Amino acid sequence: MLPVRVGPGARRKGEEMADCFYHTGRPAVVRCKQCGRPICTHCRHITEHGIFCSDDCAAKGAVFAKRVQELDAKRSKPNRWAPLVRIVILIVALIVLYIVAKRFLLQP
Ligand SMILES: [Zn+2]
Ligand SMILES: [Zn+2]
Repeated sequence: MLPVRVGPGARRKGEEMADCFYHTGRPAVVRCKQCGRPICTHCRHITEHGIFCSDDCAAKGAVFAKRVQELDAKRSKPNRWAPLVRIVILIVALIVLYIVAKRFLLQP
């Protein structure tokens, strides 16, 4: 069995992740979705909207997610009416065609 070295020396040089914003010396595993601070497993606040560093950021993230959802709902509204608009245009076109055809057919 080979001894596995675990400790400060085990961390490679030039690692992307910095230390936890709240705990110096503790390696961060994830970045806050709201402010981008590096945070360790102990500090992360996992919510339905993502991982945050604090309740404050989680609340901000939730507000942001809600706004995005509202914007998406607004954007998808015209699409919901598009098939109906197409049907109305088709009916109007048929009526116009009917009127034109009738006028031509009824001509003496
Ligand atoms: Zn931490
Ligand atoms: Zn944060």
